[in-house]
Amino acid sequence: MPLSTLSILTAKRDGRELTAEEIQWLIDEHVAGNVTDYQMAAFTMAVFINGMTPAEIAALTNAKLRSGRILEWPAGPPVVDKHSTGGIGDKVSLLLAPMLAVCGLRVPMISGRGLGPTGGTLDKLEAIPGYRTDLSIEEIQRVVEQVGCCITGASAEIAPADKKLYALRDVTATVPSVALITASIMSKKLSEGLEALVLDVKVGSGAFMKTLETARELADSLIRTGERLNVKTRAVLTDMNQPLGRLIGNAVEVDETVSALEGHGPADLMECTLALGEELLVAAGRASDFSEARKSLEATITTGQTLARFEQMVRAQGGDLAAPRPRGPAEPLLSDAAGYVAAIDAEALGWAVIELGGGRMVLTDRLNFGVGLEMLVRVGDRIDSGQPWITVFESEDDTRTRKARAILKDALTVSETPVPPLPVILERRDATSADPI
Ligand code: URA
Repeated sequence: MPLSTLSILTAKRDGRELTAEEIQWLIDEHVAGNVTDYQMAAFTMAVFINGMTPAEIAALTNAKLRSGRILEWPAGPPVVDKHSTGGIGDKVSLLLAPMLAVCGLRVPMISGRGLGPTGGTLDKLEAIPGYRTDLSIEEIQRVVEQVGCCITGASAEIAPADKKLYALRDVTATVPSVALITASIMSKKLSEGLEALVLDVKVGSGAFMKTLETARELADSLIRTGERLNVKTRAVLTDMNQPLGRLIGNAVEVDETVSALEGHGPADLMECTLALGEELLVAAGRASDFSEARKSLEATITTGQTLARFEQMVRAQGGDLAAPRPRGPAEPLLSDAAGYVAAIDAEALGWAVIELGGGRMVLTDRLNFGVGLEMLVRVGDRIDSGQPWITVFESEDDTRTRKARAILKDALTVSETPVPPLPVILERRDATSADPI
C-alpha cells in the first residue's frame, strides 16, 4: 500500500508501531511542505499520548538527522561531545570543550539558548564581546581543526526537520515527551558526526526532570538511540536542586569559567565537569579508566593549557576575552531565619534571572548580559538570621529588579535541624544499564 499521512496518523493514534520507512517518509514530506503543520501537530500529540518504541525513536532521530547536513571529519582524533538537559548556573560546556581538546579530542559543540528557566550556553558566550555563535559548517570544521573545539549554534543546515517540528511542539503542549525530546536532542547532536557522546541529565528543582525516575527514563532513551545509531553514548545523572557553581547569568558565568580555568573552580562545578569528561575520555579510548581520565583532565587545568585553549577558541570565533564584561550593581539578600540551608528553589533562581533581563520571555527579547546572581550558601550550610545568602547583580530597570527580588524572597528554605550536603553525581548510566526494551 502506498504511504499516506492519514494511514500513518491512524496507525500512531491506534498505538501501532510505525516502520522506519513510514517515519522517514512523514518527516521528508513535512520538510518538503507536502504534509501540513496541522497533520504534524496531530502526529506529535499521538506520540505524546502513545509514546514510541526505541526502534521508532531511533527512526525519527535518523530521519531528522538526514533532513540536514551531517559533519564529516578527515582521519584524526575521535570526535566527541557532551549535551546537558539544562540547568541553572550550568557552565560545564565552557570548561569541558577546551579541556577535551587539550586531551587530544575534537569537539564540534553545537549548543542552544536558554529554555524556560534554564540558561543557554550560547547566551553566556555572547556576553564575550565579538563572540560569534553562528558559524557555518565550514567554519566549524576550520575552528575544530585549528583549535580542537568550538561552541556554536545550530545553523539552518543542521536537522531542519527538527526546527519545524519543535516549533509545532512548542505551541501544542507536546514538548515534554521522552520520545520527542530524545529525537530532538539526538538529531542535532548526531549531526556533528560523533564517535562518542555524554549526556548530563539534570535532576531536581532547577531541571526539566524533577525526579530520578524520569531522569533515568530520558537518559536510557537517549543512550539507546545513540547506540542504535552507532555512537558510543553514556549519561551521568547530576543534581540540580541548587545552582551549579556560585554564579548564574551570562557575563558572570563567563567570569566564573575563567576563574575555574585558572584553578579556582567551585568543587561542585569541577566535579560535574570531570565526571562528564571521564566518560568521554574512556569511551574514546584515551584513558583506560575514570581515575586515569581524571588525572589527565585535572592536569589540563593546573598547567594552564585549558585556559589558553579557551582563549584560542574565543579568538577563533571572533571574541575578545580581555574586553571588559558588564556586571550590574551588587546587592545582597538577607536570610530572615537562622539554622541550616535545607533547600534552594533553583527554578525560581532561573526565573529571577529572566526577570532581571538575563534570559528571554519571548524569542525576540534582547538580553542584559550584566545581570545575574551569586550564591553565597549551599544546601547544608549553617546560616544566621540577617546573613546574606545571595547577591543580586541588578538591572538598571528598578521594576525588573523589584520583581526578581520578589521571586527570590521564597527561594530559600532554612531548617532548625542540620541538613546533609547534596551529592553532585547521582548515577552513571550506559548501554548496559539502559536495557533495550
Ligand atoms: N531540547 C531540545 O533540543 N529539544 C527538546 O525537545 C527539548 C530540549
